[in-house]
Amino acid sequence: MNALVACHDCDALYRLPELPVGGVVRCERCGAELLRRRASTLDSTLAFSLTGLILFLIANLNPLLILKLGGRVQGNTLFAGVEALAKAGMWELAVLVFGTSMLFPLVTLVGMLYLLLPLKFGQLPKGAHLVLRLVNAVTPWAMVGVYMLGIFVAYVKLISMATVVPGMALYAFLGLLLVTAAARATLDPWMIWNRISGST
Ligand SMILES: [Zn+2]
Repeated sequence: MNALVACHDCDALYRLPELPVGGVVRCERCGAELLRRRASTLDSTLAFSLTGLILFLIANLNPLLILKLGGRVQGNTLFAGVEALAKAGMWELAVLVFGTSMLFPLVTLVGMLYLLLPLKFGQLPKGAHLVLRLVNAVTPWAMVGVYMLGIFVAYVKLISMATVVPGMALYAFLGLLLVTAAARATLDPWMIWNRISGST
């Protein structure tokens, strides 16, 4: 029995047909795209997620910006920035930066790997439906890009006062931004839901 799906635009209910690779199902009533069957993207998503995790570690363990001011050289990691915000009493901001730039991107990457690695070998990981829900819920809050913009503004402001050298973490963050976008774009939740419901 094929799965039922509701149009996300007009709520019309359909039982989805078998779809060849490259096929598209559109809503009869409003024309919204209900499903697009891509060639298996599991390997690409897996590769992007793994690369993302490595870049995430590099990005968090190395300095983002290195400041040289009056003979002093100081490199700051992202977490040092979070700590500094908390110490300055800006708790809300510290929590927000920690969540959007560290915790949520990490949950997204680890969650995708948790789902995709076993699926690659034909196994369904325990609690797959919960993990997929968690990944979907958390991903919009993983906003490394916004943080990058903040760094860029700080860089422009600081450059007149001190010598600012971009650290390795900055390049890793830029890479992370691209790789996570690619992982999201190639992720095929339909395939995972199908495996969960045991229909394929
Ligand atoms: Zn519709």
